[in-house]
Amino acid sequence: MCQIAIYPGSFDPVTYGHIDLIQRAQEIFPELVVAVAHNYHKKPLFGVAERVAMLKKATAKLQGIKICDFDGLVVDFARKNKAKVLIRGLRMISDFEYEFQMALTNRKLSPDIETIFLMPQESYCYLSSRLLKEAASLGADLSNFVPDFVGKALKDKLQKKS
Ligand code: ADP
Repeated sequence: MCQIAIYPGSFDPVTYGHIDLIQRAQEIFPELVVAVAHNYHKKPLFGVAERVAMLKKATAKLQGIKICDFDGLVVDFARKNKAKVLIRGLRMISDFEYEFQMALTNRKLSPDIETIFLMPQESYCYLSSRLLKEAASLGADLSNFVPDFVGKALKDKLQKKS
């Protein structure tokens, strides 16, 4: 039985959809490492330290979870952490093509590491960090999508940028 799973992503910022997945993965794996990708090419709104800090706060009450950041290939990060499982989320059919390509690429790079997909609660199936940022910039109420402190950080950050 594999003990450690890695849940990699941008988490820019963490949403209730990510948290839902973390809770599901935590039911299956005794150790879960949530790995925040630097992802400079995606030009994240929040710096990596801010994304890590928000995840830590959002999951503070959950057991068996480690939050860290990584740069480079996720399969290298998994190997370093002795993990054989990557967790990714599938919301809509539109996620499928990208996730399928990425899972098969990672399998080619590292055949001993398996990607496992989890589906969130239905109400989070349409929720993405990207749409959230758009909604926040238009002044939407974010309370159904992110913890209050994340909503506040998002509004503050967007205000500073404008
Ligand atoms: P990435 O840039 O790696 O796609 P994200 O933070 O957008 O980073 O997503 C990380 C993972 O979490 C992806 O597998 C994505 O499909 C999943 N995910 C994102 N939002 C949700 C959600 N609302 N419900 C379930 N899974 C989600």
